[in-house]
Amino acid sequence: MSDAAKAGQGDAEVWAPEVAERFGLPAAAGLGPATFYADLAAPHGRRHVRVCTAAACFAAGAGRHVRQVEEVLGVAAGHIDADADVSLQGVRCLGYCYAGPACLDGDTPCTGPALADQLSGRAEPHAPPIPAVDATGAPVLLAGVVEGEDAWQVWPEIVRTRTPEQVLAEVAASGLRGRGGAGFPVAAKWAAARSSPDTVVVANGDEGDPGSYADRLLMEADPGRVLEGLALACFACGGRRGVVLVRSEYPRALARMRIAVEQARAGGHLGRRIHGTDVDLDVEVVEGSGSYVAGEETALVAGLEGGRGCARPRPPYPTQRGLWDAPTVVNNVETLAAVPWIVACGGDIYAARGTLSESGTKLVCLSERFARPGCYEVELGTPVLRIVVELGGGLREGSDLTVLQVGGPLGGFLAADQLDVPLSEADLAGRGAALGHAGLVAFDQQVEPEEVLRHVWEFAAAESCGACSPCRVGSRRGLEIVRTGAPTGQEYARLLRVMGEASLCAFGRRVPAAVRSLARAYGERLAGWDQ
Ligand code: SF4
Repeated sequence: MSDAAKAGQGDAEVWAPEVAERFGLPAAAGLGPATFYADLAAPHGRRHVRVCTAAACFAAGAGRHVRQVEEVLGVAAGHIDADADVSLQGVRCLGYCYAGPACLDGDTPCTGPALADQLSGRAEPHAPPIPAVDATGAPVLLAGVVEGEDAWQVWPEIVRTRTPEQVLAEVAASGLRGRGGAGFPVAAKWAAARSSPDTVVVANGDEGDPGSYADRLLMEADPGRVLEGLALACFACGGRRGVVLVRSEYPRALARMRIAVEQARAGGHLGRRIHGTDVDLDVEVVEGSGSYVAGEETALVAGLEGGRGCARPRPPYPTQRGLWDAPTVVNNVETLAAVPWIVACGGDIYAARGTLSESGTKLVCLSERFARPGCYEVELGTPVLRIVVELGGGLREGSDLTVLQVGGPLGGFLAADQLDVPLSEADLAGRGAALGHAGLVAFDQQVEPEEVLRHVWEFAAAESCGACSPCRVGSRRGLEIVRTGAPTGQEYARLLRVMGEASLCAFGRRVPAAVRSLARAYGERLAGWDQ
């Protein structure tokens, strides 16, 4: 490592205690977060490039783009050059899964096979917009239910003419569940937090699941609708404060959300005595700092309070004691974006879509290996095979599907002949997978099974927050074992069992299921890894 790289990585040891002291806090209060979050810990040169190392970009070329980017920039991922001119940070997902591999050069996206040319200046930076349609080819429904009209069509009338209880009842009738992966009933969560005017609702735009870019689409294309859903949620919960957390890897979404808040204030949708009522509400937009687990709701609360983004045991649930001890509802961006439609059109109409136990629609994101990658809105229960073949058009020419990752690193894998399963949490669980945030990442013959297995364990080891030992130790040991090339005796099976049963949060508990499903999907090619 160069001296400059050491200096860059050591910066946090200088500035973090100083910042802590300014607030009258001990040095550890600054050093803890500064060394936890990737954005704070990574060295930053005058030119800072982030290269995506997550599943879809990895699948686009077996991860070869990282080496190409390192060569063209003259600096290794995680380092800074001797003159502190250029630094390179490997990040897990920039939300360009449909066009990868991807980089952010500063805040400028570069995508596709000619990534190195774009970074060297031999070609213009190129990043196509997200192709977004529903199953009939119409624009995405969640973002365009009042098609062609602006957001904030629902809120003014609702806040004037309905009660919070009526809004809550409508959402309860819809059966809407959280779309971020946990799938908790939204109305039940809201009801649990209705005890205080201090209640806070957080729109969780920390879309960390590699393979999904639905929240990025919503925040960039229709930030007003996300805010309108947040306002309705605050109204139903009796809270006066909303927060939008946007991950730092989405600079465009962050800028659009900030503009949308200003516009909402100017339009009288936020502020004091909204639309002539006695309702007060304001919203703050906060930028994330680079951590996968910090999207989990207890970790998210810790992060918003300025601490390390570690998960903690529940109870107390955030709805009982969350942000600064106030009752706190954390809802994913996609979840909130569905609320204006539900309130305007009726919860029962929403509930008529989807399956009996999982109502409504879901945005699914197809990765770059598909012939027609993009973000599609489908009813829950739509067969995965139909999504892959009819919407995605199968894989691009020359690519043969080997395994399909569903629901991100904590979701699971399906073999090419296992796609006849409805897209729902219950049905996917029957195949050892999970819906997650419904990113579908296709792997083809250019990536070896062992490389995919290693990739999943690398993700687990890198993103474990370290709060509990089954996951902190298990993810590292799991990676060591797969790097040796063979499961050793009973240790691997025991490790998976302990992680799955004793980890504190869903991250550690889901990793074993994900790697088992991967081994099953590859069959003979990963013989011995299905433990
Ligand atoms: Fe952190 Fe992993 Fe434990 Fe979750 S399971 S609290 S991510 S160490």
